[in-house]
Amino acid sequence: MTESTNRVVETQVLIVGAGPVGLTLALDLGRRSVRCTLIERSATSIQLPKMERCNARTMEIYRRLGIAERVRDAGLPRNAPMDVFLALSLTDPPLAHLPCPSVAEATAEIAARNDGGLLEPYQLISQYTLEPLLRSIAETLPSVNVRFGCELISFTQDTSSVTAVVQSVDSADETIRASYLVGCDGGSSTVRKQLGIPLQGEGNIRKLRQALFRCDDLYERIPMGKGRHYHIAEGPLFPFIILQDSTRHWTLHAAASSDGEMAEIFKKSLAMPIAFEMLSVNEWTQHLLCAEHYGEGRVFVAGDAAHLVIPTGGLGMNTGVGDAIDLSWKLAATLAGWGGPQLLASYEAERRPIGLRNVKASRAAMTGRLGWRAAYKPNVRDNTPEGAATRARMAALFDIQQRKVTEILGIEAGYRYVDSPIIWPEPGDGPDPDNPHYIPTTWPGARLPHVWLSDGLALHDRLGLGFTLLRLGGTHADTSSLEQSFRELHAPLDLLDAPAERAREIYQYDLLLVRPDLHVVWRGNKLPHDAAKIAAVATGRLSTRV
Ligand SMILES: Cc1cc2nc3c(=O)[nH]c(=O)nc-3n(C[C@H](O)[C@H](O)[C@H](O)COP(=O)(O)OP(=O)(O)OC[C@H]3O[C@@H](n4cnc5c(N)ncnc54)[C@H](O)[C@@H]3O)c2cc1C
Repeated sequence: MTESTNRVVETQVLIVGAGPVGLTLALDLGRRSVRCTLIERSATSIQLPKMERCNARTMEIYRRLGIAERVRDAGLPRNAPMDVFLALSLTDPPLAHLPCPSVAEATAEIAARNDGGLLEPYQLISQYTLEPLLRSIAETLPSVNVRFGCELISFTQDTSSVTAVVQSVDSADETIRASYLVGCDGGSSTVRKQLGIPLQGEGNIRKLRQALFRCDDLYERIPMGKGRHYHIAEGPLFPFIILQDSTRHWTLHAAASSDGEMAEIFKKSLAMPIAFEMLSVNEWTQHLLCAEHYGEGRVFVAGDAAHLVIPTGGLGMNTGVGDAIDLSWKLAATLAGWGGPQLLASYEAERRPIGLRNVKASRAAMTGRLGWRAAYKPNVRDNTPEGAATRARMAALFDIQQRKVTEILGIEAGYRYVDSPIIWPEPGDGPDPDNPHYIPTTWPGARLPHVWLSDGLALHDRLGLGFTLLRLGGTHADTSSLEQSFRELHAPLDLLDAPAERAREIYQYDLLLVRPDLHVVWRGNKLPHDAAKIAAVATGRLSTRV
């Protein structure tokens, strides 16, 4: 029997759940020297394959955290193609083929262009590789305490703190007192449930099985070529095979009726004599849900605790990483004393619309996939004109519809905090924030587009932990009033002169105020007479909402 202890641990932020979102939050709070405790009820990181693709925006965020190259080193080799195929089996010729650049090719393309695109390309890395990596880095940060085998049981909050009861494998109940608590505790979030926040949308849409296989030789032997996704045009199960980062492991998704059936489906889809081992099978359920609120008082939810999407389009973890990076600097600023009351309140105002939007985009991606699958007919393998017509129709629809899954950079990186109370409002509607194609913009609320400077450095890499006032095109505009306002608020502001013409062309203005998370607060060619108001809005002391 374990003994109950009355130990009270004090921390600034208690993070519940060491999935990719909780870990990313811990990493960003850690680099801001915020004391935080990250608790995870499991004794080890995830063993199952779930996500496998960090999108370009997540990789930009990991670059800012200084870990992008470590993520790439642990993930799929940089020169591996990321192509997507539709075929009758892995040995048949493809019916459709969507080439997608390898990381090495995409990186070379980014280096050669200076058009305001993304600074980093995507990276395939299995969740069971990413989580232990993020954990090992978090454990090196002096202000971060990572505790696996420690479960949140309950919590209460008052106006100054949150008191949580946790249970560890090696002791009974323990109390952790924190200034703030963030539930990154996944779809069945204890934190969200204890706050009584309902999920809105469509739950329990469909059950699927996912199996993980080890098949060492397959990667080199697929006649149609190397890729990351292989869709098998065989209804009604529509097996879907995904390459994992080692190139020796593969997952299979299929609407199989039993675990045992998964090995048979895999074998049939390979259609070649090759040894493989099935390592695990699990069932998972598709949902399209978003929480009605992203928190209450001193308690917040992020990641799958706040939104659940269908993985088609890869907007699950990636949306959660965006939540973490929005919340992190606001927590740090509030704890440091310069963040005003609007700052933490703006987390829900900024991120919930993105959650809803990405649930919608995930639905569109899934609808696209169902679109080409609907063209399936049992004659798909027949060597007849009718069979050929079925194959041609599936291929044509695949070519159009599958792009709703693979070509949505605008959804991944073009999100904008429309109507945020801490973004300076600009008259007009602004560019379409839901455009699936990424169009660089500095409209307030948008992520700052990437620009190469004349010294070959990325402007993003020159931005520090606080706010930055960018002075572009060699402007001589007087910025002293804004600098003075930030000083009076004790809020960190760096000045960065970037005289390069290209930066001025892409950003379109002489002056840009950029937040710690790289979203634009304000832009103009000269400061207005009430620059103090811009500083007050940016730091959450004044709301733009009346
Ligand atoms: C088949 C599949 C494929 C996917 N592919 C992609 C993809 O390519 N790209 C993408 O972006 N997303 C993808 N996703 C979604 C992605 O896996 C999730 O969005 C992601 O895991 C969410 O991260 P999270 O940290 O919010 O939550 P989780 O990963 O669920 O982590 C929550 C953690 O909290 C812990 N926890 C729960 N309750 C407590 C408690 N009371 N106390 C302490 N700890 C607790 C859990 O043990 C868990 O470790 C996929 C999902 C599936 C199922």
